[in-house]
Amino acid sequence: MEELIFASHNRGKIAEIKQMLAPLNIKVLSADEINLPDVEETGTTFEENAALKALTIAKLTKKPCLADDSGLCVNALGGRPGVYSARYAPNRDFDKAMDKLLAELEKSGNADRSAYFACVLVLGYPDGTYQSFEGRVNGKITKQKQGSGGFGFDPLFAPDGYEKTFAELGAEVKNKISHRGRALQKFVSYLHNLK
Ligand code: IMP
Repeated sequence: MEELIFASHNRGKIAEIKQMLAPLNIKVLSADEINLPDVEETGTTFEENAALKALTIAKLTKKPCLADDSGLCVNALGGRPGVYSARYAPNRDFDKAMDKLLAELEKSGNADRSAYFACVLVLGYPDGTYQSFEGRVNGKITKQKQGSGGFGFDPLFAPDGYEKTFAELGAEVKNKISHRGRALQKFVSYLHNLK
């Protein structure tokens, strides 16, 4: 595989996927770069939404297409915001979304700050078939925002084994251990097995 369409308009995700696939010489074309429409996420699971995005774009472009659905699941909040993570942010303002999350956690009165990021990557084919790859990373929600790297909820999430958040750890560490990095490692093994 030399070229791959990545059905996302999320700049943070696009940058990570491009960086992680660069060593394999796979050129990634994002939805923005080839003017693809935004696909509405009507599913109730990460896999359903990722498959919806990947298959819609694969059928439209007649090429294999990769899509990601991901989110932050906070245990004290019963797994929310989960699949609704992107919509948890008022007007996609993640600074406000992080304040909202901290306030909700405080209000819950629950001392459990454990959480995980989940990511399902789906490679969809124009004939309607697909393969999915899941990755997860456990960690905890910090008391305040820390760091300026990454995107989304990164400044609030410290992965297990680290005192720093994803926003402080930098792309190299994040991509190795993150939910998206882990899902992508499975996707890359799948590509190797195709050869
Ligand atoms: P969606 O997959 O486009 O529905 O959006 C996923 C949302 O989950 C993003 O907008 C972020 O809020 C959050 N999210 C997913 N992955 C990450 C990550 O690696 N860091 C921070 N936030 C993330």
